[in-house]
Amino acid sequence: MSDKFEVVVIGSGPAGYVAAIRCAQLGMKTACVEQWVDDKQKTLLGGTCLNVGCIPSKALLDSSHKFVEAKDHFDVHGISTGKVNIDVATMLARKDKIVGQLTGGIAGLFKANGVTSVQGHGKVLAGKKVEVTAADGSVSTIDAEHVIIAAGSQPIDIPPAPIDNDVIVDSTGALAFDAVPKRLGVIGAGVIGLELGSVWSRLGAEVVVLEALDDFLPAMDAQIAKETKKVLTKQGLDIRMGCRVTGSEVSGAKKKTVTVSYMSGDEEKTEKFDKLIVAVGRKPSSKNLLAPGCGVNLDERGYIFVDDYCATEAPGVYAVGDVVRGPMLAHKGSEEGVMVAERITGKKTAINYDCIPNVIYTHPEVASVGQTEQQLKAAGEDYKIGVFPFVASGRALAANDSDGMVKLIADSKTDRILGCHIIGPSAADLVQQMVIAMEFGSSSEDIALTVFGHPTLSEAVHEAALAVNGHAIHIPNKKARKK
Ligand code: FAD
Ligand code: NAD
Repeated sequence: MSDKFEVVVIGSGPAGYVAAIRCAQLGMKTACVEQWVDDKQKTLLGGTCLNVGCIPSKALLDSSHKFVEAKDHFDVHGISTGKVNIDVATMLARKDKIVGQLTGGIAGLFKANGVTSVQGHGKVLAGKKVEVTAADGSVSTIDAEHVIIAAGSQPIDIPPAPIDNDVIVDSTGALAFDAVPKRLGVIGAGVIGLELGSVWSRLGAEVVVLEALDDFLPAMDAQIAKETKKVLTKQGLDIRMGCRVTGSEVSGAKKKTVTVSYMSGDEEKTEKFDKLIVAVGRKPSSKNLLAPGCGVNLDERGYIFVDDYCATEAPGVYAVGDVVRGPMLAHKGSEEGVMVAERITGKKTAINYDCIPNVIYTHPEVASVGQTEQQLKAAGEDYKIGVFPFVASGRALAANDSDGMVKLIADSKTDRILGCHIIGPSAADLVQQMVIAMEFGSSSEDIALTVFGHPTLSEAVHEAALAVNGHAIHIPNKKARKK
């Protein structure tokens, strides 16, 4: 490759491919370097999100949710089904088809926008050059005016439970079990542990989640986290807090099992599982990415060091997505990709990092934006809260889906919305309404004075906004909870 590009993007995940497309839309000659290939050596675009993350996990969550609905929840509607079975191979094939459709779609978008797709491992050299080592071993160098690093992240592994991609797997392996494990262990009660633990639990696995911390989902609003644990436990997840895994031993020849040792307080315990998922977080991918002297530095946690606008310390070199600080979320990386593309062309685009929604796609979904009650309390802020339970929502009852609540937090003096935390049906889509409201600096009264369609789940957000100032209609108003 001897061409000179205005922009070279390293990585084609949601941060990289979006950055590349936006750069091309803005008229820049753009290449995107991706190292991932399939078994036919064809470049796989889309990164973790499309190939082994957001999309395949949601495909399995939707399949397994439908299975539980048909098995356990159709009878209340008067629908009888007989014995409900799951064919795992069909479920996995559906997931793979969706992944293929979407990753192929990125290739189509690259073509339509004129982005050049380059296969290979990219390494940033000094002077805004990118060295590319292709899957066949050939090495070339691309000159660029701007480089955007979007190398993403990979699962963290822990010495007591080394991944063997057979019995002990990471999130990627957990998306491809060829049968429902009888007993499934999960290390880590974070997003992946709860989502993928739910998938296999719904399909019949006995699931034990071992979490090192004493607090469940500590970054979440504590009231919502408590409700989430209660609901997931009721669904059958055996979530054990304060459990530090110390070792694992795989045994058996034909039918292998793994015995996991862990400390629960001062007590040493063991559990035997057919499969074990290790889901203890992800780390930035920066292996062989930065040549000495390229001017890009890492922070103390191994992320590429960037400023508020994703510029590294090397002029003309940017980094976006999971490889930089902030939540490891696809939409966060995509917005950073757009921001960098636009700033290269001189626009003043910025991201409001206080308004990034976060969702756990269990059922019910758990979604949040903004500050939690405990954060505001710790900061000594004056706030008021409105809570509306879905059990009082006509639409949720009609759908037989009334677990959970909407919690809206507003500033006591200005009434400006500071945070929204939801566990409930379609929480991901409901919280998005409050993301928009917060972006526009809305007060809870603005939401209270807005007309909501009836009957909708959104009415729960409306009622929570009314409840902030003690005006809810469909629940008795406690005295408005003020600090
Ligand atoms: P990645 O998607 O990791 O992409 C990086 C790409 O760069 C990869 O394709 C990699 O091969 C390539 N690459 C790396 N180094 C090089 C190099 N040197 N040269 C060339 N190419 C390179 N987030 C959500 O927001 N919602 C969800 O529902 C969600 N679900 C998830 C479920 C699971 C099971 C997992 C594992 C993650 C999930 N995430 C979810 C997180 C989400 O996938 C990541 O935040 C997102 O993919 C990060 O995007 P990225 O572009 O920064 O990196
Ligand atoms: P996580 O950080 O959400 O959870 C990891 C959990 O493992 C934590 O609760 C942690 O305390 C625990 N842990 C760490 N070490 C442990 C040990 N040795 N023993 C027992 N427990 C231990 O990480 P994750 O679930 O692996 O997900 C990784 C990233 O992927 C997250 O940052 C998340 O943002 C992203 N992701 C997002 C979604 C989504 O948006 N719906 C879904 C999946 C993944």
